[in-house]
Amino acid sequence: MPSYNIWTIGCQMNRAESERLEALLENHGYTGVAKAEDAGLVIVNSCVVRQSAENRVINKLMRLRYLKRSHPGLKIALTGCFVTSDIAQMRKKYPFVDYFFTAGSSPTFTDLVDVESYSLPRPAAISSGLTIIQGCDNFCSYCIVPYRRGREQSRQVADIESEARYLVEGGARELVLLGQNVDSYGHDLPDKADLASLLEHINCIDGLYRIRFLTNHPKDMSERLINSMASLDKVCQQLNLPVQSGDDDILQRMKRGYNLAHYRKLLEGLRSGVPGVAITTDIIVGFPGESREQFDNTLKFLEEARFDAVHVAAYSPRPQTLASLVYTDDIDPSEKDRRRKLIEEAQSRISAEINSGLVGQTVEVLVEGRKKGKWYGRSRTDKLVFFEHPGNWLGRQVPVKIEHSSPWFLKGSI
Ligand code: SAH
Ligand code: SF4
Repeated sequence: MPSYNIWTIGCQMNRAESERLEALLENHGYTGVAKAEDAGLVIVNSCVVRQSAENRVINKLMRLRYLKRSHPGLKIALTGCFVTSDIAQMRKKYPFVDYFFTAGSSPTFTDLVDVESYSLPRPAAISSGLTIIQGCDNFCSYCIVPYRRGREQSRQVADIESEARYLVEGGARELVLLGQNVDSYGHDLPDKADLASLLEHINCIDGLYRIRFLTNHPKDMSERLINSMASLDKVCQQLNLPVQSGDDDILQRMKRGYNLAHYRKLLEGLRSGVPGVAITTDIIVGFPGESREQFDNTLKFLEEARFDAVHVAAYSPRPQTLASLVYTDDIDPSEKDRRRKLIEEAQSRISAEINSGLVGQTVEVLVEGRKKGKWYGRSRTDKLVFFEHPGNWLGRQVPVKIEHSSPWFLKGSI
C-alpha cells in the first residue's frame, strides 16, 4: 500500500493545505505514516516568514536528501512559501526533490494521484481550517508573503460553501476561514461578495456549531463585519487583529496603512459591538531603526489595549522585501531578544489577569480531543479549556465551570 508523510511548519493556511493534501492522498489509498523513513512520498510544507523558519526547512531538506540515498524510491514533494515561482531554478538547487508547487497551488504529483478529486468526503478535524482567499496584495515592508503566495485571489462563494459542507459531513463542528487578509475577501469577485456575506452563507450550514476567521487587517476591517459578528449565532466572539507596533512612525515605515488612532477606534467599535470579544494580536520587535522609546510605545500600547494574547516575533530581514532593501537591520539580536521577552512578560501578566476574571464563570467548550486523561477544547472566545470527565465528549459543546486559570489555558469541570 502506498504511504505518505507530511511535514508542516508555519501558519494556519499551511496546516489547512496539509489537511487537504492528506485527504487527497487518503482518497487515493495512501496511508499516513509517522516517520519519513517509512514513507514512499514525503511532502514538505514550508514557511520562510522568518529566517529561523527557513533554516528549519533547509535542515529538513538536507535530512531528506540523506534519507533518499538509502531509500532511492522515495519521492519528495516541496510546497509552501519556500517555493519561489522560478521552479527551474529550484530544481537546479534541490535536484533530489521530485515535485515542486507554490503555496496554495495544485499539487504537481499528477503521476501519482488525480489532483482534480479534492472534494470527496473525508474525515475532518473537529476544528477545520478552510482557505477562502489566497495570496496578499499589501506588501507590508517587512513581509515576504506577497512574493511567495502571489496576488490575492478569492475563492468562489459556492466552492467554499461546498467544501464547508464536505468538512461538516466529515465531522467538522467548527470552521476557521483562512486568508492572509480575510477582510479583502471578495473584492476580486463579480457579485460583490464580502466576508460578511460569506459568513451569512456558512452560518446556514446544519451540523456546524461555530465559525471563526483569520487574519483581519486593521486597515480593511469593516463595520459591516462587526455587525455580522454580533448578529450571526455561529460566529465566535474572537478575532486576531495584528497591530505589529504601538508606534505611528514604525507603522508607517512598515507600510501597514493605518495609525494607532484608527486601530484604537476599531478596538472600541469591536468591544462595544461584540460584547465579551477576545482580541489577539501580532507584534514585531526590533524593526530597523526602532528606538527604545518607540519600543516603549509598543509596551504602553499593550497595557492600553489589553489583548487576550500576543504573538511576538523579532524582526528578520527577508529577501525582496522593501525593508530589507532600504533599511539596515540595525538592532542587535540580543536587544531584539530583550524586547521580545519584555513583551512576553507584560502580556503574560495581562493574559493572566484577563483569564483569572473567568474563574467561577461557565463557558461553552467545543471539545476537540483528549490529552493526558483530560478532555480539551476551546471556548467561543478561543480560550483553551481542560476538564476531566468519564463520558465521551468529542465534538460536543459542553458548559464548563472554570475553576483554575493561567495565562495560556483554563481548567474546570462540567
Ligand atoms: N497576514 C497577517 C500575517 C502574516 S505573517 C498580517 O497581516 O498580520 C505572520 C506574522 O509573522 C506577522 O503578523 C508578523 O508579526 C510576523 N512577520 C512577518 N514578517 C516578519 C519578519 N520579516 N520578521 C519578523 N516577523 C515577521
Ligand atoms: Fe504580509 Fe502584510 Fe500581507 Fe500580512 S498583510 S501577509 S503582513 S504583506
